[in-house]
Amino acid sequence: MKPDDADARRAIQPVICYPVETLPTPDMSLYSDVRRDLTKTDECLVPARGARCFSVPAGHFFRISSVEGSQVGDLNLHNANDLSEKFFSGKTRALHGTHITTGHRMWSCFPFLRPMATITHDTLDWYGIDAFGGSVHDVIGTRCDPYTHALLSGGAQYHHCCHSNLTRSLAHHLDLPRDAAETYVHDVLNVFMCTGFTRDTGQYFMKASPVRPGDYLEFFAEIDLLGNLSACPGGDCSSEHSSDAAACHPLLVEIFSPKPDALSGWTPPAPTSYDRTHGD
Ligand SMILES: [Zn+2]
Repeated sequence: MKPDDADARRAIQPVICYPVETLPTPDMSLYSDVRRDLTKTDECLVPARGARCFSVPAGHFFRISSVEGSQVGDLNLHNANDLSEKFFSGKTRALHGTHITTGHRMWSCFPFLRPMATITHDTLDWYGIDAFGGSVHDVIGTRCDPYTHALLSGGAQYHHCCHSNLTRSLAHHLDLPRDAAETYVHDVLNVFMCTGFTRDTGQYFMKASPVRPGDYLEFFAEIDLLGNLSACPGGDCSSEHSSDAAACHPLLVEIFSPKPDALSGWTPPAPTSYDRTHGD
């Protein structure tokens, strides 16, 4: 039953959970200086409805580009030297908001909680938040997966959801059985995906991505990274994502090294300063 003071309780002003004033900030002027003179060292083309792993040494940059057509990508990041440290979508969302862009960072899971990568350039930064509440590069979705698809479709089997693509890719890269590799797959950064929550029902929505060939999202690797990127079977995610119905395109990943000494004085961030004793 609605209490007498319901309106008063609803009228209480919100406060930001994690004020950014105390969040350590990246040295964006250093990164923008360094990125002016980069040498491409490697690239990989992620096939449509597939995934590929790629390595990025600490202090290098990597760029995910749209090629051929509008396409969404699902990105996993691991510490290349310790797979138990992986991207923490939920805390990244709590710190930076539902969608991330230049200057935001991809944070790692507990008990590490440090920046794994910092976004250094985003050609879609003009998009902002549209009239539906949608924006690009979200950390609110999880990844399309065959479990939810089976749940919602009466048991249909589909094997090229991002979750399965990431699993096959990691298993191949690490020479692991698929069930072992699957345990390392985690909630993604939805690169180029345009998403939000409906205002009336609060439901997760997607709409056609504004990405076009030539657009890219660029990152600075704060630690040695193993990346794993899936080209979502949803294509531009304008209609559905757990089928072969959508037009699908590859995504290009390029790795760049800075000039020697360009990062002198820079060191990878340390893991959490929490002592991990958890009290009495
Ligand atoms: Zn997907």
